[in-house]
Amino acid sequence: MKLYNEAAVNTQALYKYFLKLLEEENEQGATGVASFAAVYDELMDVQKEKLRRITKDHFSSFYESGSIISIGVTYKDPIIDYIDDRQSGSPDYKLWNEYAKEYDRINQVLNRMSVSIAQRFEGIPLKATIGGMIEDVNHVHDYFPMVISHRVVAENAGIGWLGKNQLLIHKKFSCALRLASIIVPIPMLQRKKIESQCGDCRACEDACSYIRHREQLQDYRENCRRYILYLKSRGLEKDVCGKCIKACYRSSVFEKQFTLQPQIKS
Ligand code: SF4
Ligand code: SF4
Repeated sequence: MKLYNEAAVNTQALYKYFLKLLEEENEQGATGVASFAAVYDELMDVQKEKLRRITKDHFSSFYESGSIISIGVTYKDPIIDYIDDRQSGSPDYKLWNEYAKEYDRINQVLNRMSVSIAQRFEGIPLKATIGGMIEDVNHVHDYFPMVISHRVVAENAGIGWLGKNQLLIHKKFSCALRLASIIVPIPMLQRKKIESQCGDCRACEDACSYIRHREQLQDYRENCRRYILYLKSRGLEKDVCGKCIKACYRSSVFEKQFTLQPQIKS
């Protein structure tokens, strides 16, 4: 009981602190807490290895009782509409690059927030996954050892469900949010996964043939990487595509339920 109470107090303090940071940054977002062991067990072997290296001698105690906090920060309207905008007949890469810039900006926000939360709760920040490496690797598999899947953390923290587009789907923000994580040794109330709500929806599969045929492809993520290289050769400045995000936010069965705060231009 004493441990539960301590965990409840810590978790309440986390939510309060997270809201304060969001307000300071003028952002919208979501947070939750996952079991360290549940996340570790689901990661690829190379990512397990990375988590062991990060936690060093403390790995066993983290595995026994540690938590991983997931934090998400959303895009703002109308940024998602800038992805693959074809009002002029062909993709508008100038607009698409505005989305790419937001991707970078939100990563910076997440990095500040994850460091701040780590300091406040004696944790280790796992910063947002950065782009810019797509051309440095020969295959998407070379990229996996460099990251810990924030999506796996967020899923186990009950922030949303795993969508058919393999992204985390939040009930209000769709997959229009970016993620970072913080490993913490102190007790916290850990949440569970949410069952997929995708049902018969297939908007993301309609938007991307790699998602649609992912069962037949050797690894659809490599097709995705090559498609992004193609987009970069056409004028996209960052390692982003996002068509599967736009499809979910704008065309899924939840399109009326998903909402993002508007961007206020200075
Ligand atoms: S990012 Fe683009 S290519 Fe990759 S899965 Fe999504 S829609 Fe398909
Ligand atoms: S577009 Fe539909 S099927 Fe795809 S992830 Fe979103 S809700 Fe699920």
